[in-house]
Amino acid sequence: MNKPESAATSNFIRNIIDDDLAANKNDGRIVTRFPPEPNGYLHIGHAKSICLNFGIAAQYNGKCNLRFDDTNPVKENEEFVKAIKDDVTWLGFEWDGLKHASDYFNELYNFAVELIKQGNAYVDSSTAEEVREMRGTLKEPGKPSPYRDRSVEENLDLFARMKAGEFDDGAHILRAKIDMASGNINMRDPTLYRIRKVHHVRTGNDWSIYPMYDYTHCVSDAMENITHSLCTLEFEDHRPLYDWVLDELKTPAHPQQIEFARLMLEYTILSKRKLIQLVEEDYVKGWDDPRMPTITGMRRRGFTPAAIRDFCERIGVTKNDSWIEMAVLETCIREDLNEHSHRRMAVLEPIKVVITDLPDGYTETLSFANHPQKEDFGRRDIVFSKEIWIDKDDFSENPPPKYQRLVPGGEVRLRGSYVIKCEEVIKSDAGDIIELRCTHDANTLGKKPEGRKVKGVIHWVSASAGVQAQVRVYDRLFNQPNPGSADSLEAELNPESMVVHKTCYVEAALSEAQAEERFQFERLGYFVADRYDHTSEMPVFNRTVSLRDTWAR
Ligand code: ATP
Ligand code: MG
Repeated sequence: MNKPESAATSNFIRNIIDDDLAANKNDGRIVTRFPPEPNGYLHIGHAKSICLNFGIAAQYNGKCNLRFDDTNPVKENEEFVKAIKDDVTWLGFEWDGLKHASDYFNELYNFAVELIKQGNAYVDSSTAEEVREMRGTLKEPGKPSPYRDRSVEENLDLFARMKAGEFDDGAHILRAKIDMASGNINMRDPTLYRIRKVHHVRTGNDWSIYPMYDYTHCVSDAMENITHSLCTLEFEDHRPLYDWVLDELKTPAHPQQIEFARLMLEYTILSKRKLIQLVEEDYVKGWDDPRMPTITGMRRRGFTPAAIRDFCERIGVTKNDSWIEMAVLETCIREDLNEHSHRRMAVLEPIKVVITDLPDGYTETLSFANHPQKEDFGRRDIVFSKEIWIDKDDFSENPPPKYQRLVPGGEVRLRGSYVIKCEEVIKSDAGDIIELRCTHDANTLGKKPEGRKVKGVIHWVSASAGVQAQVRVYDRLFNQPNPGSADSLEAELNPESMVVHKTCYVEAALSEAQAEERFQFERLGYFVADRYDHTSEMPVFNRTVSLRDTWAR
């Protein structure tokens, strides 16, 4: 595909917007919003919604608000608010208005009073259980509450006293009076307000009653003059209620709710409830564990904002739920990192190689390109020395067929350096390899060996000049492509999702790496200096993704 980077792929929502603009609906304004509840960290599913809402605003010269849907004070907190702002910013978006549903608590209350006066809402004093029983089922209509026909005066009085804090939690609720026989259960007199005598981070102890999500959401959208209110498919059945509230209240603005399929990504879960479980039951080391599908976890893993935006564009926006292959996300990451990251050498499981035909203390400085295709990325020096480290995987005493790395009596090229030959394997009494004694062909620096072919090339790090480091190799968190349906999460977790290599050696240039700087470790994958734990004294790198897909089915 050859298209300018900014060109957005068309989808059914952009088509609706194009038609609305052609008809000069909303005087040509486009206003969207991203409305998270601050009760957890954002994940890659939210990134889809963020890219869609902010992307549309940018594409159509519109506006996009960040609105915290903070109507459930018990589960929400400031840590989540801050994290959400950081994540949206890191993804590369700027909100126009920073809003909170709690900004509208007064308006929401006054609108509710209006609904009561219209005969469209009533105070129900049934218990939660009675309300549930009267609601009916998909097959049976609901039954009207005995409080349904309370007078407007009585409703106004009770609602005012609910607000004043005269009643305990659960004593009354305010319900819309719609249709207990509706085929859509959301229309069977849904709850608008409940009593909750709890402190709210922004409104303190001002309120003893809090509005419900469905009621709050449409009113907040209208208050902000949102034109297109984009949400996930599970809200399709709530749209009649969204429209009912705004129609009855005759709000000046009546945003259009449009639903799209939520992202489901293979080998991970995107349900907040289950993510909380992973954190609380210590299956991962917190919300920003690099295996988590959270934005903060992906950031720590080394994913780039550009790759995540690219992914959201490639998966598109539809009305059909479908699982997206992890390979799609990983391909976006690899493409971006291949293009932008400097190459380095690192040895994760070191074996020592001593080059016996070099004098003791021998060193030689070699110059390496930072990127094979990009001269402007510059070059760096790498010290070659008599003693070097190579990776355990690159030597075999019993090589499988077609093995092209080092074997006893065999030759291999050290990347960017000489061809060496393994002359002797030194082992401990227990049979572990202590070192490989090799000779080198001094005539092979930048030249093919004469009279023979040496196919294999392996990476290496100088034992005298290299730096010790810790490398954490991450992989998919789950073994199952569609996890989350088994009884226990544990059964579906990938036991190898994190392998920590504590004693690695990396080339000296990596001691200058900054936290969050990304590299390709040649032949091993893409790695990032850990955002929190990396220091120049003890470098710590996380594997972002392998060079190739090793999970292909
Ligand atoms: P909860 O589990 O609490 O319902 P949620 O994941 O729906 O959480 P919200 O904070 O309510 O989180 O979501 C904010 C916005 O992100 C909503 O507009 C929601 O539709 C959207 N969103 C959430 N999950 C996904 C997903 N997997 N794919 C696309 N959009 C999503
Ligand atoms: Mg939600």
